[in-house]
This record gives sequence, structure tokens and C-alpha cells, in this order.
Amino acid sequence: MSRRKYPFYAGASKVESGICEACGNGAAWAVTIQVSWFRGDDDMFLLCEPDRRMAMDKQWKDFYTKIKTQRRLKREAGLTKAQP
Ligand SMILES: [Zn+2]
Repeated sequence: MSRRKYPFYAGASKVESGICEACGNGAAWAVTIQVSWFRGDDDMFLLCEPDRRMAMDKQWKDFYTKIKTQRRLKREAGLTKAQP
């Protein structure tokens, strides 16, 4: 039985373009984060280098706070745009 702790930084691949899902700047990496032993539950985030480091350093609380904030900002921006 694996005693791996989750979340777990599983790896990253370089991307040429995209928006960082934690801060909204340009993304450099597509990072895979395992959240349980079910591979179907893996998360993939587009991240800039500083935010990838945050995940590598296991600063999960700060990391997921940034992801959540960024998602809310994006949703609010979308709602604003949808107004007639
Ligand atoms: Zn970022």
C-alpha cells in the first residue's frame, strides 16, 4: 500500500501559451497534481513558474487559495461581461 500524501505534485510539462490559473499571468507549465490514489481524480493546472514552485514546495493552502481566488475573479469577470 502506498503511503503517499495528497495533494501530490506529480509532474509538469512545458506549455507555450496559456494563462496561469493561480495568478492570471502567462503560464509556462501544465502541472499535474494528484489528490487521491484514483488517477481519474488528478488535477491539471496551467501555472507560471513561481506558482509551480509553490506546488513543488507543498504550500497547498496558499496554492489552493490562489486558485480559488482566480476562479472567482474569472467568474465575476464573466458575469460582468454577460450583462446587457
Ligand atoms: Zn501564476
